[in-house]
Amino acid sequence: MLKFKCKDVGFDCGFVAKGKTEEDILSQCAVHATKDHNMKPEDITDELKGKIKSKIKKSLF
Ligand SMILES: [Zn+2]
Repeated sequence: MLKFKCKDVGFDCGFVAKGKTEEDILSQCAVHATKDHNMKPEDITDELKGKIKSKIKKSLF
């Protein structure tokens, strides 16, 4: 299981994405960012995706 916390990239936010693959986490983050942070799909740049990927942690739970 992989886990990503939104606050790890600097948002004051309690969102945590959980998934089996990085792609799974990234797609959850894209939905979350557009819905809860008023971001546009084009705001989710490769740079931001890279940042997210670097903060994804392996979790046993
Ligand atoms: Zn968030």
